[in-house]
Amino acid sequence: MAVDALLFNDSLLTGGHNGAKVPPPEIFGIEFDGIIHPFRYAMVALAILLLCIGAVAWLRRSPLGLTMLAIRDNERAAAAEGVNIVGTKLTAFAIAALLAGVAGAALAYLYGSISFDRFSPLASVSFVAVAYIGGIGSIGGAIVAGMIAAGGPLFNLLSSDPLVDRYQLLIAGLGVVVTAIANPDGVAPYVGDQLRRLRARLGPAPAPAAATAAPPPRPPVATPARSAPVVQGLPDGAPQPALLEVGHLRVQYSGVVAVDDVSMTVPRGSLVGLIGPNGAGKTTFIDAICGFVGCTGSIAVDGRPVERLPAYQRARAGLRRTFQSAELFNDLTLRENLLVHRRGHPPNRPGMSSDLDALSIGELFELVGLPGRGDAFPGELSTGEQKLATLARALHGAPQLLLLDEPAAGLTSYESRQLGGRLRGLLDHGVTILLVDHDLSLVMAVCDRVDVLDRGRLIASGPPEDVRHAPRVRSAYVGTAAATVRGDVERQRT
Ligand code: ATP
Repeated sequence: MAVDALLFNDSLLTGGHNGAKVPPPEIFGIEFDGIIHPFRYAMVALAILLLCIGAVAWLRRSPLGLTMLAIRDNERAAAAEGVNIVGTKLTAFAIAALLAGVAGAALAYLYGSISFDRFSPLASVSFVAVAYIGGIGSIGGAIVAGMIAAGGPLFNLLSSDPLVDRYQLLIAGLGVVVTAIANPDGVAPYVGDQLRRLRARLGPAPAPAAATAAPPPRPPVATPARSAPVVQGLPDGAPQPALLEVGHLRVQYSGVVAVDDVSMTVPRGSLVGLIGPNGAGKTTFIDAICGFVGCTGSIAVDGRPVERLPAYQRARAGLRRTFQSAELFNDLTLRENLLVHRRGHPPNRPGMSSDLDALSIGELFELVGLPGRGDAFPGELSTGEQKLATLARALHGAPQLLLLDEPAAGLTSYESRQLGGRLRGLLDHGVTILLVDHDLSLVMAVCDRVDVLDRGRLIASGPPEDVRHAPRVRSAYVGTAAATVRGDVERQRT
């Protein structure tokens, strides 16, 4: 509105209501003025359109495009993958502005003059509305929007009817409401979905699967053995250097102190468990370390303070996490989910990074137990498989420290034991792990050390067997159970 009032209304800049004169366009001496040579103009406009479609299609497949799609899907998960959200959005804005500028120039050559009132803020809003009806985020959506927008081929066809012409904004508004209710993704993605379904129905019927055959017996999973964490180059028995050092960490959400003065270290090459009853502050602790909530206190990774870095820079420094729910990028294949990760400068001290760098994406999927699933979309996976895919995503880029938030939630006890074995295996690749999970048998079986949070405070820390029998830990868990039972009884009475 400000630009409109200050700049566009200045007749010196814009030519006022009569508009600014545009010289007749020509390429290599061939004129393609929109009024004198409409066919030539149409061909040039079509060529520009095809170029733009090609460029956007290429952008979608490029690393930058994957990043943009990831941000659209899930900003938190994108930041956890080292994506600079603000920078990427600004880039997207600049590219969109370039495309709009190309379209504006083409319009100017069509009419031979250009006046500011065609670009009033309200007219822009109606273009955004039409783009939404077509389908935001898909190339087909932009084409549909171009067809139905004011001046587009379908619009021109119908606008001979004075009613359509007069009520174009109203029709577009109703279209937005109906689209938002019926197809929130827009018309083009809906049509694309229907076509895919039709093709699947008309395609060859799937071969009768070996569904009738009995499933192969599951191989027994040995309880993964705990071994002393090993750091190359250290004499036997030497104290392990801390990879993560947290000092007096405190997080407060308005009235609730979720993490209260917690100090702990995670030695390099170890698997440390963090347990505690519901609401103890475990997720908030991970959020604070990874930069997703504000906190006070100190956080150092490999001796380097990170508490002032934004989340994406911590991820680039080798601090990777998973979330309680899978939080995969649903519009991307699993392989593309992994490609979103943006890595900063790898640590320059030799032996300080994990050796996962040497693995291909396919090998990473094999490592977590999802062989050959790189081309699947997240929606095609079970909850347990989605969790494994998130683990693969966090491992891509060879993190130094992996913070896992309930990776076993949604897994069967068999899968959970398998996961335990895989986590121990990751230590051999040089990854250090902080594991938060409610599956205590998993945590106790695989962790070198277990820390316990209760109401935001660290109440115990030590070897799993000691922690399991610590009276404070037992009372923290039993207290929660008792409180839950009391609550249930009171609810029933009410
Ligand atoms: P769970 O095991 O159930 O996931 P948790 O140990 O991870 O629990 P947190 O989710 O970290 O616990 O929550 C710790 C405390 O902070 C709880 O009392 C919770 O209600 C509160 N809390 C968490 N997130 C917020 C928020 N965004 N705003 C306000 N309070 C919050």
